[in-house]
Amino acid sequence: MNTNEFTFLVVEDDDFQREVIVDILMRLGAQKVTEARTGTEALKILNEANYSPIDIILCDLNMPEMDGMEFLRHIGNSHSSIATIIMSALDGALIESVKKMAGAYGTYLLGAIEKPVTPAHLETLFSKYKSQDSKSGKESQNGSKYNIGEILEGLTGGDFNPFFQPKLELATGKLIGAEALARWIHPQHGIIPPYAFIDLLEKSGNIDILTFIMLEKSTKACKVFHAHGHEISISVNLSLTSLADIKLADKITQIVKNLGVDPKYVTLEITETAAMTEMAPALENLARLRMKGFGLSIDDYGTGYSSMQQITRIAFTELKIDQSFVREMTTSNVSKVLINSSIELAAKLQMKCTAEGVETKNDWEQLKSMNCDLGQGYFIAKPMHFDDFLKFCNQSINT
Ligand code: C2E
Ligand code: CA
Ligand code: CA
Repeated sequence: MNTNEFTFLVVEDDDFQREVIVDILMRLGAQKVTEARTGTEALKILNEANYSPIDIILCDLNMPEMDGMEFLRHIGNSHSSIATIIMSALDGALIESVKKMAGAYGTYLLGAIEKPVTPAHLETLFSKYKSQDSKSGKESQNGSKYNIGEILEGLTGGDFNPFFQPKLELATGKLIGAEALARWIHPQHGIIPPYAFIDLLEKSGNIDILTFIMLEKSTKACKVFHAHGHEISISVNLSLTSLADIKLADKITQIVKNLGVDPKYVTLEITETAAMTEMAPALENLARLRMKGFGLSIDDYGTGYSSMQQITRIAFTELKIDQSFVREMTTSNVSKVLINSSIELAAKLQMKCTAEGVETKNDWEQLKSMNCDLGQGYFIAKPMHFDDFLKFCNQSINT
């Protein structure tokens, strides 16, 4: 296979092993191989303004000073578009857990290989990289074909709107709320889902623009739902990065209050993740939001890793079980156990428990029998435009 269009960075403290890998890569036809002895040195290379772009990083796990885990965290935070391969002499199970960790940090992990590294190992992973690369076509490395300029133009032009997905009480089928999910209504390309813009907005420090648009439009919509006799709540997604701004809670409160809506009808969904760096301001914001009466929801529960710790630190009002567990509920015993214990945990902490990704009648029935409070998913309805959601509300009263 032909590796000659790729550039590599090899991070390995052992001189001999590093040489061997560089040698293999050169023999496979690499265009350029850069070497680093430590994670710090590698990060310096990646951060240098004029470094030549690197396609694939190969990194050892067991290194002095900065180990591979810490290095992968930095890669996930600042270089998540570069493909990474873990090389390690550790056993398979441990490598598996590091893989999970890297994924949680947002690292674009191509795979993990046990040492000694062979050309065949590497070729398999490179062909995977190639096929992913060609699948994404001309799209940029983060999977979006739009650049930040186009996205910001769409935002200021008013082309972003919340779509609403209903949340129903499983025991009664009663409509109790809706999650507002951002959609870019592109004048040429139609409805564009969040994966094409959230990441870029977060990385460029512009996510707050979207957050406030979503909050304002969703709160206005909530007012209309109430005026039509549907006393439901709305949930808006909040990026963790926004929580670093100490003024965030006050800004949110002001927007909602100015529109004349009681904060108790507004829930803020926050995804649990390990990458919450500014812990203190985030806690202050969340505590303040709770004090003002907002609901706080822990989103994608079970996918991050400090789940328990987060719950004890912050007074959440809702726990949302991630859809990946619901999807596996019937086939994986582990998922079922996790769902059951999440439901129990939520009940004990006086939180509402919502299951995401309810796709079938069977999902609904099972979750209901497990005493899960609320359900959200395609079985009930997909996220809808405001007009359609209002129709949905009216129908749900008549049935
Ligand atoms: P999320 O908060 O976990 O939202 C749930 C996602 O699952 C939505 O994807 C929804 O359309 C999808 N979904 C709902 N029911 C089902 C189902 O039964 N099966 C399957 N397979 N999927 C279902 P969507 O709208 O593409 O949003 C993706 C993510 O983008 C959201 O995940 C959320 O993290 C983020 N997002 C959306 N809007 C905003 C926003 O305004 N601000 C921020 N910061 N993030 C947002
Ligand atoms: Ca959410
Ligand atoms: Ca989710």
